[in-house]
Formats: sequence, C-alpha cells, structure tokens
Amino acid sequence: MDARLPVRAFFTDRTGGVSARPFDRLNLATHVGDDPSAVSLNRGLVEDLAEAPVAFMRPNHGTTVARLGESYLAGGEPPEADILLTTVPGLALAALAADCVPVLFHDPWSGAVVAAHVGREGLRKGAVDAAVAALHDVRGGWRGVGDITVAIGPAICGRCYEVSTSVRAEVAAVHPRAKSTTRWGSPSVDIPRAIATRLGHLGIKRIVQHYYCTFEELRLFSYRREGETGRQAGIVRCEGPATAG
Ligand SMILES: [Zn+2]
Repeated sequence: MDARLPVRAFFTDRTGGVSARPFDRLNLATHVGDDPSAVSLNRGLVEDLAEAPVAFMRPNHGTTVARLGESYLAGGEPPEADILLTTVPGLALAALAADCVPVLFHDPWSGAVVAAHVGREGLRKGAVDAAVAALHDVRGGWRGVGDITVAIGPAICGRCYEVSTSVRAEVAAVHPRAKSTTRWGSPSVDIPRAIATRLGHLGIKRIVQHYYCTFEELRLFSYRREGETGRQAGIVRCEGPATAG
C-alpha cells in the first residue's frame, strides 16, 4: 500500500511473492529460516516496484543509525541497524517488521530518507529520537523539522498487543501514551500511538498513520499470531532535495 509520502514509498504485505508456508508469500527477511533463493526473488519484485536498488536492513532492536552511501547502489548488505538513512538519489531503504512498526521519513530540504524498525524495545531506548536526530545532523544541525513527513506503517495495535503489567509500566514510564488495554481487558501497549506522540513532541507535524493491525489482518505477517513467519517491509526511495521553485 502507498505510504503517502512525497517520494516513492510503500508498505508491502504477504501477497505477490514466491515463498512457501509459513513464509508465504512475500517474505523479505533472510533471518527467519526461509529459502534464501525465494527471499532473493521476492526482494527483486520489491526493487521492481521501487524502481531502485533496495537496501534491506538487518534489525537488532537497537537505536543505531546506519547512513548508507553510494556504494549501496550496487547492492550489498547494510550493517546491523534498525535505522537506515541515505541521501543518495536512486537508493531505496527497507525497514523489515512483523508486528513491530516500520516507520518511514522524508526530508524535502536535504532529500534524506530514513527507514526505521521500531518495536517496544527500540521505542523505549529512543529509536524515534535517534532517527530525528540523524535527520538534524544531515541538515547541519538546523532544528526546524516542520517540513519532514513521516509514515507509520502496519503494526500490532494497542487493542491486541498484550503485555504484563510490569512491561506496560516500564514502557509507559518513558512513553505514557503507550499505555493501553486489550479489547479483552488486559494490559497492553500501543506502540504506533506512542511513536506518533513522540514525533509530535519532537516538532514533526506531518504524520501519516496507517492503522492496519498485523495481528488482525491475515494478509500481513504477524510474529505474535504465528511465531514462525516472514517479514513485510516499509520501503522509501531517496529522490534528492526538492528543487526550488
Ligand atoms: Zn489489533
């Protein structure tokens, strides 16, 4: 589905690929046990859609930002990181997730784009702040971020993401808006809502939230629902700075 950013950007789902169960069909992750040749074919399909080479992240639930240069136009695996940034026109980035939140950023001033994988742990450790800080760095420290657009992709929702009372308290201590309740009445966390709230606090006004819940929608991969499963992705393509006039 279209991410509704000013550049080519979209979120994939399970449809359209060649992977067999339980990774059917458009699994984009190599670390989940799927046949590598199927993943490679699936990634090729996504590169066709992006009309660009795509750098697929290797997430590790951290807050490290990897800035990718021109060498990635020729392919190659990025370093382990949950936040990828580039200013290289013609290079696309992919944030992998299955319940965690793929978050895409576009800065028209610098042309920079970011693909971030933000889960409960990443949120708590400051992944949203790290992504925005990295965009500030690219701008040379200029603090205005009002023209940056962010798309928050499909993820497990606050009505489904059950956690223990202590885990909810731990996350809510840093992000109060994460505190939620499942539809069956137990403690839960709402990570997409917490991300949107934090972005707002950091001065970002243009936020496009895609409310599809991975746990409820069978056309999306959900680790919580299925255990062994694939990963979908948020993809964003760098197109360089917006030209004046
Ligand atoms: Zn849900």
